[in-house]
Amino acid sequence: MKPMKPKKQFYKTVLWGIEAVSINKSHLKKIKRSLELIKNTDNFLFRRVLRLKAILIFPGKSYYGAVYERKRIFIDQPKSIVESSVQFLASSIIHEAWHVYQYAHGTRKFDGRAERGAYIAQRKFLKKTGKKSELKWLDREYKTEWWRPEDTKDKKDSGYDKKGVDKANADFLDFLKQYRQNELKIKEIEI
Ligand SMILES: [Zn+2]
Repeated sequence: MKPMKPKKQFYKTVLWGIEAVSINKSHLKKIKRSLELIKNTDNFLFRRVLRLKAILIFPGKSYYGAVYERKRIFIDQPKSIVESSVQFLASSIIHEAWHVYQYAHGTRKFDGRAERGAYIAQRKFLKKTGKKSELKWLDREYKTEWWRPEDTKDKKDSGYDKKGVDKANADFLDFLKQYRQNELKIKEIEI
């Protein structure tokens, strides 16, 4: 029998009812600041964001993130958290919460049309709060149609190629299962 790998220590905090979980406390702080920014900028959007039940940071190495609309859970990765500004992270949370709202209102196919709605909401917020360079970056990403896995170099680099997406989705589902069955080593903290 192989020796068991020690379990990773995760931290959890509850922010306005949303569970936030990561192995790194600084990720949780940044998520809190992003939620605060939304709260202080746009109350309508904030209420929409509160539809999220949890934001889980999977300790992986790509930029791929996904929302499980029915479960109301957004899973992201450390790279996206660390490399985003508070404003951009806030706009991403709005984007994913938008999908949760779409799902609750009958959207079942998350294709270009659903993405457009979420992108417009995200863009509007980012235009109000973020830097021009981030807005440009978002527009560029939108043009690549990130919801369509492809084996282009850019998509491969960020983990949005077919293989990367399939792997991340399998990892995320496994992670989600562990989370829901209380199999992760989690310490609840106040931040
Ligand atoms: Zn989307």
